[in-house]
Amino acid sequence: MSWLGNHRNDPDRRPVVQFVPIICPDCRTRNYDHQGTRGRIRYHRCRDCSLRFMSVEQIPEPGPEG
Ligand SMILES: [Zn+2]
Repeated sequence: MSWLGNHRNDPDRRPVVQFVPIICPDCRTRNYDHQGTRGRIRYHRCRDCSLRFMSVEQIPEPGPEG
């Protein structure tokens, strides 16, 4: 019933994808507020320096057949 009880969904056996850590472009902290999402754009505001910035979802490079 529960996906937690399914050994095929063991977290350590799942495929891995990479993501880029989001940091403030000014003071480089990861201390930010998430202010919303629009498509592939995410809006953030730094809690340390109050800078407003965006992050963009990265489209994976297409493979040789893509
Ligand atoms: Zn900042």
